[in-house]
Amino acid sequence: MVKQTIQIYARVKPLARRQQAGIYSVGEDEKSASSLEIIVPRDLADGFVNNKRESYKFKFQKIFDQEAKQDAVFESIAKPVAECALAGYNGTIFAYGQTGSGKTFTITGGAERYSDRGIIPRTLSYIFQQLEKDSSKVYTTHVSYLEIYNECGYDLLNPRHEASRLEDLPKVTIMEDPDQNIHLKNLSLQQATNEEEALNLLFLGDTNRMIAETPMNQASTRSHCIFTIHISSKEPGSATIRRSKLHLVDLAGSERVAKTGVGGQLLTEAKYINLSLHYLEQVIIALAEKHRSHIPYRNSMMTSVLRDSLGGNCMTTMIATLSLDKRNIDESISTCRFAQRVALIKNEAVLNEEIDPRLMIIQLKKVIQELKDELAMVTGEQRTEELTQEELLQLNEIIKTFLEDPDPESTLDVGADMRKIKHCFNYIKQLINRTNIPDRSLLSPDITGDEDTNTPEKKEELKKLRDLLHQRDNEINILYETGFI
Ligand code: ADP
Ligand code: MG
Repeated sequence: MVKQTIQIYARVKPLARRQQAGIYSVGEDEKSASSLEIIVPRDLADGFVNNKRESYKFKFQKIFDQEAKQDAVFESIAKPVAECALAGYNGTIFAYGQTGSGKTFTITGGAERYSDRGIIPRTLSYIFQQLEKDSSKVYTTHVSYLEIYNECGYDLLNPRHEASRLEDLPKVTIMEDPDQNIHLKNLSLQQATNEEEALNLLFLGDTNRMIAETPMNQASTRSHCIFTIHISSKEPGSATIRRSKLHLVDLAGSERVAKTGVGGQLLTEAKYINLSLHYLEQVIIALAEKHRSHIPYRNSMMTSVLRDSLGGNCMTTMIATLSLDKRNIDESISTCRFAQRVALIKNEAVLNEEIDPRLMIIQLKKVIQELKDELAMVTGEQRTEELTQEELLQLNEIIKTFLEDPDPESTLDVGADMRKIKHCFNYIKQLINRTNIPDRSLLSPDITGDEDTNTPEKKEELKKLRDLLHQRDNEINILYETGFI
């Protein structure tokens, strides 16, 4: 088990040319942590109702400043999580920030340049590279792509391209089993056997995501998109399967919308946030409180789906995306505050191993048969049901091998099962009958009485042997009656 708090990173979007800069600074702290100091300009400070501080300092694992490139973000943030997913642990990376701060750019990437590829395509590429290198296991990969808008889930990997509205896509619903595990009904899991297939699926999902967006339906800023890579692995011949899920999440815009919409009200406390992000905050606040037993995951679809990622069996990373120009300072501060609370959440990721039931059944059947045989031997209890066709065939094979073996020391071992012993006798009897007894050559000359047996010495020896045979017969009968065989 790996215990870990949620890792938090910050990424600052490059400022546009006309935007005012110089209102924040990034400091490298000791112990591989960084701090972000945001300076509130004098003319804005009065807008904050409860405090008039001029500067705010926030700690992050690492801060990616404006010039940071996509490959650096992937290396630091996504690669370690992808490695854990390959080893059988669940992972989640989610981007949180106001609309326009770079969530989609970070998670999916920009379309213009190849180097702008975001975390999803880079992670897919990395995972398939690693799978190709590792021939010690058999891997299977599937992907799913879910969009949650207004508490409704939609399957973005629906191949019906003609979907022109989000509502045309298959609706995904949540089901909870008696063990309180979440299942998503109608969310398709598409198999991807290589990077190209996986990228095509991502492209299909992104196309469906864009088609469904109209000016009236601002799905992209108000919806959450969860791209999930499902990996299962198994060593050849083993019944144990490892399964892990890696969620790459582009959350809805975190901006608080003014109640009245009047410009001057923007910095007051009366603000609404996307309702499911409000529930996400409640879950995070509850998780950070020590003795809270009830965590309100069920309040929204997004928190239900990401339940394991928040305070559960998952290694989770958050990227706070910041648009640090003067106009967005209050939103940036609230994004950083949210991140500081998230950093308090402890997760416990466990290795997701399970047994393949089919392989387990075969192994257990074998063990049961061995135990039955052993039991019959120890208790002397005999089984009475008829031998199966398979058992008879196996037995006949053993007898044939025995009869054909030229070694005089060879033995016929069929265990302590009287049914099998009887069958052996019958088999041999039939064999002898078929080969026309009294064709004496088949039987031992000692017993059949050749001409030579007429000599007195031979007669004496024959008598001794007959007595011995009789004695052995009696012994066998006694052993059988007392239950030893
Ligand atoms: P969000 O998804 O948070 O609403 P986007 O990712 O769509 O924001 O970013 C808004 C715009 O800014 C897009 O045009 C995007 O290409 C650009 N952008 C965001 N982050 C970066 C970055 N780090 N470097 C270059 N352009 C960026
Ligand atoms: Mg976006």
